[in-house]
Amino acid sequence: MARPHGWIFVIPLTAHTSYGYIFNRDVSSLGEVESDFDAFLEADGVSECEQRAVIPFPNFVHRQIYDGAVARIGNAAAFMEPLEATAIVSAQLQIGMVLHLRLNRSVEHLERDSPLVNRFLINNILCYGLFVGWHYACGSTYDSEFWRYARDRAWTKFRKAADPELVGCDALRKFDEMIELISQPVIGKADWNRMCGVPLTSYAQISQGLGH
Ligand SMILES: Cc1cc2nc3c(=O)[nH]c(=O)nc-3n(C[C@H](O)[C@H](O)[C@H](O)COP(=O)(O)OP(=O)(O)OC[C@H]3O[C@@H](n4cnc5c(N)ncnc54)[C@H](O)[C@@H]3O)c2cc1C
Repeated sequence: MARPHGWIFVIPLTAHTSYGYIFNRDVSSLGEVESDFDAFLEADGVSECEQRAVIPFPNFVHRQIYDGAVARIGNAAAFMEPLEATAIVSAQLQIGMVLHLRLNRSVEHLERDSPLVNRFLINNILCYGLFVGWHYACGSTYDSEFWRYARDRAWTKFRKAADPELVGCDALRKFDEMIELISQPVIGKADWNRMCGVPLTSYAQISQGLGH
């Protein structure tokens, strides 16, 4: 759920419900975030709370996820901002690709295969990053400093950050193609299954929901 200082996730589990407020500490103070969080929790009828924690996390992708013998999986390999819940699917892809090579390719292909696996996995994380950044840039109902920063400052750097010359993969081209497709009045059936990190349908959903 969008909030003035970011967004709140709510995860109902069997015995308790987890709440988290994602914010940018360079933009909002902890006090501002806490008071908005308290107002939200009160409105949601939360009377009891376990201890809170403030957890800083980096967004990153390791340049060498798989070296042919050892594979980095999960948070050891990459982490992308949690707006689109991409961590578990990334770990599944990492495990799946490495297992596929170990089980189906003979060792003489290793030197050629592992750079390809790394490039694919890095590209995939960058595609997630572009999708997440674009989602933020599409904004929210709040015209607050957090959302203005996402749109006017962070997002304006995406071409430089994902420059194929710098990152060695083509996430940016795939992303541009998605935006071009959703800008068309009609999307042909042949394109329905195209992806850039997430399927075209997800791009269409965000763009319609947020009025891109
Ligand atoms: C509240 C919340 C909601 C989330 N929701 C989603 C979601 O909806 N979808 C999604 O894709 N992702 C989600 N994520 C992110 C996802 O859960 C994590 O990115 C993922 O669990 C990372 O897995 P991991 O195995 O790399 O690390 P972890 O799950 O953190 O596992 C690391 C393990 O190592 C253990 N450990 C650490 N240090 C040591 C040590 N020195 N010796 C021995 N053991 C050690 C830890 O106890 C832990 O069990 C969420 C995260 C949080 C916090």
